[in-house]
Amino acid sequence: MLGRGGTIGILGGGQLGRMMAMSAAQLGYRCIAYAPEGDNVVSQVCDDVFHNKWDDTAALAAFAAQCDVVTWEFENVPVPTAQAMPAGRIFPHPRALETAQDRLAEKRFVEDLGGRPAAYARVDSRADLEAAVDRLGVPGILKTRRDGYDGKGQWRIGSDRDVAGLSLPETPLVYEAFVEFEAEFSVILVRAQDGAIRFWDSPRNSHENGVLATSTLPAGEPIEAQVEAARDLARQVADALEYVGVLTLEFFATRDGPVFNEMAPRVHNSGHWTIEGAITSQFENHVRAVAGLPLGDTATAAKTVTMNNIVGKDIKGAHGHLDTPDTHLHDYGKAQVRAGRKMGHVTRLER
Ligand code: AMP
Repeated sequence: MLGRGGTIGILGGGQLGRMMAMSAAQLGYRCIAYAPEGDNVVSQVCDDVFHNKWDDTAALAAFAAQCDVVTWEFENVPVPTAQAMPAGRIFPHPRALETAQDRLAEKRFVEDLGGRPAAYARVDSRADLEAAVDRLGVPGILKTRRDGYDGKGQWRIGSDRDVAGLSLPETPLVYEAFVEFEAEFSVILVRAQDGAIRFWDSPRNSHENGVLATSTLPAGEPIEAQVEAARDLARQVADALEYVGVLTLEFFATRDGPVFNEMAPRVHNSGHWTIEGAITSQFENHVRAVAGLPLGDTATAAKTVTMNNIVGKDIKGAHGHLDTPDTHLHDYGKAQVRAGRKMGHVTRLER
């Protein structure tokens, strides 16, 4: 168990690390972060930040020497970077990054555990794409296998003409059949070092342009009828990876049950509502798990919860939300306001 005053290292510099560090501070820990130069909002709440490249082995060693335990807040931390941290002192284990960073590996991994992703095909060439579209049909979505997030690295394919007109990126891809879903939801769990698992209630998620816009609870039907099956899969994923910390799996609720979309080996945007809407937030429980502390209760603490992301210039009028009772604003403190950039979120509760 990490004693009070212990140091948690965070790989990554974004808002997820910032909210994690705020929970760690509450529990009496100090945080230091490691992230290449950029608008690293984690620096506003950490004792120290290493602004070094991911492959700077000397800087990684100096960082690790100052940490009692290390975790990450960014799923595209290169695997060798995570592996450069001392074994047994990085949670989750870097194998979780390895699995989740490649959409193809992730789908195969989940299928081996009995999960059902959207029909998919590996695409490494135009001929592969034509064959995939022939076999799986249109509409579909072509995605980069690596480094995609928030709808980036994705192309909607509605017809053979779209295939012909596409200049294929020089990177491994996967083609997915479009899922006719009724709703989207996520399973957010935390797994402790002793293997204990707790789930938060699953929110109904809606996306705009591939970016999460809103998470609401209760999720209602058809989601609630499908959560149990989705949790079974998520539990198997967590156990198979001997996972420690918060893990998120995203699903489509379809007429034939839950279809796995993707997993995030970290705290997740669709869990931000837990800060005020649950007894213990995803950030606090992630810190508790990596620090070896007992997990907190994950029960929902309100009748209804609505979390809205604040994207781009909408952050400028965000204080206006505070006129509404039981409404909680989180401004991530980002200096650069850019269209489509997640700038903050607001959570509204009805108790
Ligand atoms: P992803 O980054 O893969 O989670 O995709 C972001 C969002 O795009 C998802 O949450 C869905 O709203 C949509 N999407 C992605 N893949 C599919 C699919 N195969 N079928 C339908 N919608 C999809």
